[in-house]
Amino acid sequence: MTAPAPRITVGETSIIYLADGYGVHNPDTMMPGVDWAAHPGVLEDGQLVLTFGSFLIRAAGHNVLVDLGLGDMDVNIPGFAHVKGGRLLESLAAEGLSADDIDTVVYTHLHLDHIGWTSDVAPVPNASETKSATGLTFARARHLMAEAEWRYWTGEGAAEMGGPDAQATIKPLEGVVEFIRSGETIAPGVTVEDTSGHTPGHLGVVVQDPSGAGSGAVFIAGDIFHAPVEIDDPTCVFASDVDAEKARVVRESLMRRPDTVIAAGHFNNAVFGRVTAVGGTHTWTPIGHTPAAG
Ligand SMILES: [Zn+2]
Repeated sequence: MTAPAPRITVGETSIIYLADGYGVHNPDTMMPGVDWAAHPGVLEDGQLVLTFGSFLIRAAGHNVLVDLGLGDMDVNIPGFAHVKGGRLLESLAAEGLSADDIDTVVYTHLHLDHIGWTSDVAPVPNASETKSATGLTFARARHLMAEAEWRYWTGEGAAEMGGPDAQATIKPLEGVVEFIRSGETIAPGVTVEDTSGHTPGHLGVVVQDPSGAGSGAVFIAGDIFHAPVEIDDPTCVFASDVDAEKARVVRESLMRRPDTVIAAGHFNNAVFGRVTAVGGTHTWTPIGHTPAAG
């Protein structure tokens, strides 16, 4: 019996974390310069564990997926990480839904751990060649992202490590992808917000009660955060930030946002939580139960 998926509600809207897998990362490669001894409890056996998955938003009859996990793979990248995915569709089935029930896919950004289930081919990092995809996993869904994100990864970022695979991800989305702008509504009570920095078209997804009742919101943060150490020490730089300074400014402003639950999909053991300011420091306070990676 697996534990129920972590979830939170805003009015009648539910936000559910769908696990796909996890990665065990070399912390000094991912976040160079951090004094890990000053942050006890962040590492597990000296490694930085990040979860991979998707957030399902069920709002007024709509089923929206925010990001598509890593995909079906189990790969060791020497000196860097061991990453394993493959559970997303099972996690979706546990909510009583199949791929065809998803009407909207929205990408916070196109790093490979956020796009893995785009097509029927999971692009293995560092593989010399990828098979061509034959179709989209969520074939009935609109596929949304910021135009700057698509332009970057199909242009100057195309050769950069960690981006979307041309055969498995970009090609099946060509002619399908729809661009959305900051402030646009994608489902009742669900809007996107420009949070570029980590990548050039990075979006946050804001979920509010569609009835307009209550001021609270859930902010699905994509890769604004990777691990709670970035809340303890906002000067931390993550290796894959395209613009680290801009990413830091976005991160700090999100920590000051009032009445907001943050959904941080990479936080092992606690994807939902609030940031509280105590004196001059910020603390991550998890909400609810999230099963450990594995
Ligand atoms: Zn990520």
